[in-house]
Amino acid sequence: MAMVFRGVGRVHALDRLPTLENLARRNIQVGSLMCKFCGEMQETSEHLFISCGLSQSVWEFVRTWCQLHRFVLFDVKDALQYHKDARGSKRWKTAIYTVIQTTLWCIWRARNEAIFNGKQPMARNIKEEIKVLGFLWLKNRAKESNLTWEKWCNFDLRYMGI
Ligand SMILES: [Zn+2]
Repeated sequence: MAMVFRGVGRVHALDRLPTLENLARRNIQVGSLMCKFCGEMQETSEHLFISCGLSQSVWEFVRTWCQLHRFVLFDVKDALQYHKDARGSKRWKTAIYTVIQTTLWCIWRARNEAIFNGKQPMARNIKEEIKVLGFLWLKNRAKESNLTWEKWCNFDLRYMGI
């Protein structure tokens, strides 16, 4: 689990991930360039991770679950910067950053599952996965041993001093 997370830590380079548009730019045969979630727009990293309807629904869940204020995203960079400008303790920021990285990771995974395994992307599954992986990663990485699953599901992090 920790090893997977280190990969996600370099998520600021998401524009360099081989999204279909990036591959097409390098003249690699990719078949359809359309987004595998909605099939309506070209798959750019901005569309895939932020503005696609499915991703919007996932971010809306994150915003509500984590009680985030002024959480407006225009691109992947906004998502990765959010915790820096938001008010909160260092531990809270770590928790939020973990959730956001997990969200990007889960969207990316759902996209790959759709392309390579023909799996139907479902917002409900992505949201559940964010909760589970975020919990495991935060407990492991930030050594939040007092964090219980119940507190996590309610995003009740008052003991973190926020
Ligand atoms: Zn889409």
